[in-house]
Amino acid sequence: MPDKFHFECVDCKTKYLGDKVMYLCPPCEKENKPGLPPRGVLKTIYDYSAIRDLTSTEKLFQSLEEDHFMPLLPLSSYSYWPNLNIGRTPLYRINDCFSGEEYNQDFELYLKDDSQNPTFSFKDRASALVSAWAKENGIKTLIAASTGNAGSSLAGICASQGQKAMIVVPAAAPLAKLTQILMYGANLVPVRGTYDDAFDLSVQISEKYGYYNRNTAYNPLTIEGKKTVSFELYRQLNHQVPDRIFIPAGDGVIYAGVCKGFEDLLKLGIIDRMPVLVAVQAEGSRNLINNLKNKTFVATPSKTIADSISVDVPKCFHMAAGYMDEYHGEAVSVSDQEILQASLLLSRSTGIFSEPAAVAAFAGMLKYWDQGLIPAQSKNVVLLTGSGLKDLTAVQSSIQIPDAVEPDIRSVEKIIQKNFSQTS
Ligand SMILES: [Zn+2]
Repeated sequence: MPDKFHFECVDCKTKYLGDKVMYLCPPCEKENKPGLPPRGVLKTIYDYSAIRDLTSTEKLFQSLEEDHFMPLLPLSSYSYWPNLNIGRTPLYRINDCFSGEEYNQDFELYLKDDSQNPTFSFKDRASALVSAWAKENGIKTLIAASTGNAGSSLAGICASQGQKAMIVVPAAAPLAKLTQILMYGANLVPVRGTYDDAFDLSVQISEKYGYYNRNTAYNPLTIEGKKTVSFELYRQLNHQVPDRIFIPAGDGVIYAGVCKGFEDLLKLGIIDRMPVLVAVQAEGSRNLINNLKNKTFVATPSKTIADSISVDVPKCFHMAAGYMDEYHGEAVSVSDQEILQASLLLSRSTGIFSEPAAVAAFAGMLKYWDQGLIPAQSKNVVLLTGSGLKDLTAVQSSIQIPDAVEPDIRSVEKIIQKNFSQTS
């Protein structure tokens, strides 16, 4: 199916047919050096005029229900797609949940809750496409290096597809994510080292044994799979482009994926403007933002409670930075304290318990709001990329589990007097 799409290197612009396993652009990859963001990330390009001729906008969006936007995915058939419900996650309009707070909301706020994916994170969008492509091409074993979410996602999706998975993680990954990986039956390889060490090891394993590598940004389909959220957003907003989307950013792959989705719609003539995409980083992990204007990349060791966006060298830096430049993207960072406060506010006012990396995006929106940067009547989306149950340790400092009481009504009455008014 080489005619449907091809890959293009974001750096040297070389084109490659999509008929075999491709990772980074080979000549650019040869020039890559440790400690610097990789060059040679590939972008997936379609014959947009052919798609426009063959598929009406209405039919394209119908395809969300029927075959998950197959005209805009690098697959020949929906039959390879996992049987699980990938994407199609809820978009909640939040009107007055901050009543009683100091906020006066005069704009439209939407929360896209991607924790409702099968393994409870946004990563399932990428894993589904990588797994489906492997299935179409007869590859039975997949591998990923991961800090947790991508690995647990690939493990779950592979379990649903009858594929084998090997997941290489830094040994310090959160327990919930490691547990998930093992429950889904994947081979878990914890390494004494960093994510970068796990990444390099996984590449060596795929080169030696031919396992299909899902590493984020290294495999171009990880970016491509993530773009489906943009199609859903456009559809859920009644075919309107939001003004701003707040996106948690570590490697920059989700940022690039969301941008690619809207860019596809722009190239198809379905939309006539791009939303402003805001990359939200943790203050302790600002390696994307800090290097946007640098001539030479400088990595600062990252430290944040938001482990999913704790990244020293962003793997998708050049593509994300290129998109920010081309479509006037914005960036903001939030402290761990702001993430913890936002986490409580989000959970208590909306009923959505997100992991710290996802809450970072919400905290970024709050910061914009505080600074008067959100225009009245504008449409704003916060992308919530993972469930809070994935990292319970991160929020322990914000809560206190009460001491146990005797099972009699008098013990409870003390609690009621302290915390509730007398009437229900
Ligand atoms: Zn290249």
